[in-house]
Amino acid sequence: MSVSQEQRISSTSSFKEDCLPLKRQCNIQNLLRRKDFKQVVRILQNQNKSRTNYKKLKYEDQIYRVGQNLCIKGDNRSEYVAKLIKIVKLYDDEDNCIPLIKVQWFYRKNELYGLPKEQMDCISENEVFKTNEFDYIEIESIVGLAIILSYEEYDQIEELNDNIYFTRASFIDRKLQPSVDQWKLVCICHKPANPDLKYIFCDGCQKWCHLKCVGLTQDQADKLNKYICPDCKN
Ligand SMILES: [Zn+2]
Ligand SMILES: [Zn+2]
Repeated sequence: MSVSQEQRISSTSSFKEDCLPLKRQCNIQNLLRRKDFKQVVRILQNQNKSRTNYKKLKYEDQIYRVGQNLCIKGDNRSEYVAKLIKIVKLYDDEDNCIPLIKVQWFYRKNELYGLPKEQMDCISENEVFKTNEFDYIEIESIVGLAIILSYEEYDQIEELNDNIYFTRASFIDRKLQPSVDQWKLVCICHKPANPDLKYIFCDGCQKWCHLKCVGLTQDQADKLNKYICPDCKN
């Protein structure tokens, strides 16, 4: 099935004699204007015409399936990331179709709150954290598919695209799980790797070391064929 833009709600309203549905219809229109889709779903999902059992949708020539991860339009520069949980098609009292998707949010670095700076320093701009927060949003908010890799997979990738992210933990009830001290540690400073920072690979212990921690500039590091870190030298 496809949920296309043509099926979006039209704003024409016809006079109805029964004033209750009309009042409800006005209410729905207001909620849609305020983008309060959770309420719209709550009011309309018990209508016997409403359907929630779709497995895929087509939007701007791309097929999206339940369970896939999505890039979602953000307010300014950065996009949001979410998992597609459910596709719903609701009908209001005037038979307008309202297609929505239910998503489970992944937080990005700029959405995390309450973490100490030392932990934030280990987190990448391309890292995401699964949350237990869900929302209903418009299909038009979809930017494209997001690829979420493990840290190990991400580390192997040579060319990164904008839609490639990685994850090492979830963010549930304002806590990282597993916590940062359980993440794989690198460098002589024994901190979790942040792929956004510059590293050199030690041929001794086979660990990545921060250039800053081992006192090298990028130029110096580029000229080395082989590198042994201070820990391995001692
Ligand atoms: Zn270090
Ligand atoms: Zn080493």
